[in-house]
Amino acid sequence: MFCKNCSASIQEDAAFCPKCGTAQGAHHPHMPPPVYNVVIQREIPPANGLATASMIMGILALTILGPIGGILGFIFALRAKSLGNRGGKATAGLIMSIISLVFWLLVVGVFIFGIVLTRIY
Ligand SMILES: [Zn+2]
Repeated sequence: MFCKNCSASIQEDAAFCPKCGTAQGAHHPHMPPPVYNVVIQREIPPANGLATASMIMGILALTILGPIGGILGFIFALRAKSLGNRGGKATAGLIMSIISLVFWLLVVGVFIFGIVLTRIY
């Protein structure tokens, strides 16, 4: 290659011209521009269905289904989230399931506590 300043013939990878001392700049091969993989999160229908199911389970868990509904709702919500569901339904289902599970744990806890109390006294 030739010097940018004095056009003297210099080595291909020379950083400076040996004749005039002008910096030649980096002569690295052109790096390809970074490719950004833009992953667009979309609502996946099965995940959406699971999210709805988890929400229903969470509600039913507080009424007729009991703790089983809470556990199912919790699993459905986590599955919907792992499938890429970013909607509010999966979160709502998850919260509902946790609330119902805590509720049933309290109920069972009070029930056991009651039995223990009646046995002591
Ligand atoms: Zn030069």
